[in-house]
Amino acid sequence: MPTSKLISGYRRFRKRYKEDQQLFERLAEEGQNPKVMWIGCSDSRVVPELITGADPGEIFIVRNIANLVPPATSPACATGAGVEYAVLHLGVSHIVICGHTGCGGIAALDADLDATAQPSIVAWLDLARPAKASVLAAGVPEADRALETIKTNVLLQLENLRSYPCVVEGERRGTLTLHAWLYDLKAGWIFSYHFESRRWKPASHYTPLAE
Ligand SMILES: [Zn+2]
Repeated sequence: MPTSKLISGYRRFRKRYKEDQQLFERLAEEGQNPKVMWIGCSDSRVVPELITGADPGEIFIVRNIANLVPPATSPACATGAGVEYAVLHLGVSHIVICGHTGCGGIAALDADLDATAQPSIVAWLDLARPAKASVLAAGVPEADRALETIKTNVLLQLENLRSYPCVVEGERRGTLTLHAWLYDLKAGWIFSYHFESRRWKPASHYTPLAE
């Protein structure tokens, strides 16, 4: 039963808690001070701490379907509130938007979704539709369209990030750096977008996250 597995995992965590008790107590007493915000997909296969080796307290995470960032004017937006909290209150110096291969949210852009049955999904995915339109307009061959849409979507959401005054100000001051990443589910690679060459390169061969 799935929940039994969670409970046995919890038992293992209690063991780790005792081993790392000082870390957990320090985090509880001093509060969190992450340097990185991660905006990723809710997909259960893309686990930020697992693929980055991050410890508790190291990354501030917002996950949603297709790693989208609604523009700053969107009302009552959890992702937007997360961005402002991370930048203005936690003082993160990096924001990573991480898309991934095989993203079901992006694949759903090709599906005929019933807006009456699932209005929230349809409205949410509208934020990614310009990525698909851009890939179609660029004449990308059909075989490459899905992956190109996933990549283009990450860059589109990164531009949406720049609709937030705190992000604009952080970049202007040089205290905030934005990163576009892509996680390859099958191979376990992270690729990072190199803005100067406009190419995706293996992250470990490219600028790693600095402190
Ligand atoms: Zn996804």
